[in-house]
Amino acid sequence: MVTPQTASPRNAPPAVGLRVTPVSAFADNYIWLIHAPNLPKWVVAVDPGDAKPVLKTLRDQQLQLGGIFITHHHADHVGGVLELLNHYDVPVFGPATETIPGHPQRLADGHKVTLIELGLEFDVLDIPGHTAGHIAYLGHGSLFCGDTLFSAGCGRLFEGTAEQMTASLARLSTPPEHTQVYCTHEYTISNLCFALTVEPDNQATRHYFQHAQALRSQGQPTLPSSLKTELQINPFMRLNQPSIKDAAAKHAEKALDSAVDVFTVLRTWKDHFTPSPAQMSAGQWITD
Ligand SMILES: [Zn+2]
Repeated sequence: MVTPQTASPRNAPPAVGLRVTPVSAFADNYIWLIHAPNLPKWVVAVDPGDAKPVLKTLRDQQLQLGGIFITHHHADHVGGVLELLNHYDVPVFGPATETIPGHPQRLADGHKVTLIELGLEFDVLDIPGHTAGHIAYLGHGSLFCGDTLFSAGCGRLFEGTAEQMTASLARLSTPPEHTQVYCTHEYTISNLCFALTVEPDNQATRHYFQHAQALRSQGQPTLPSSLKTELQINPFMRLNQPSIKDAAAKHAEKALDSAVDVFTVLRTWKDHFTPSPAQMSAGQWITD
């Protein structure tokens, strides 16, 4: 029997050994395969919206599925669950208050998911906003945050409130800075165009844009990100920074009193923001 590792305390050094394989699905989703620390041929699939690419990866890399983690009920996150269960008799874990296929074990804030044989243990965080019951999995120096936090952005408000999303993003800012952030969509370049529109003088964002462009030009994921990076470049994780507050107030043409007010302006601003081809190709962000 393998002894389960415990979740990292806040000041722990970077966790070593958690290997995570991305599986591309649909236009821009990633289904993450978490390798068991001591049984690396065994993996847990996070948000398998499509079974086909997961089954192919399992077959090609001779991996065994040991479990399924679900962050929220959207089809591009759960659509492959039943098909995977046709091939593998494994436990499914999901949010307690959402309807998830596969009869999941229902999780809520404060719960732990422990897969003893795989040596995996994650804390469960309630992070409503994108959906009403959205959860995240935090452990081994890694955060699986579904569609709540994206690199340089955040999820849209489909079911929750601005207050909930602001609190959820604040919650996600509290783990150690080295925490690796596994988002579910490759939205980074587009998000960075918005981030630089809000904060054009943020040098960390400019540098990260170049880094992300280089990765994408090689066909590589920009993910995982790290919490440290997100706290430097993600406007939705920087709601109390003067540069963000000033930009949001200027855009709204009124004073903004709270982080929720700043979030609301940014989220609405971004909902109507479409980056131009010139912005997406980076030229204007790097030359001036
Ligand atoms: Zn979603």
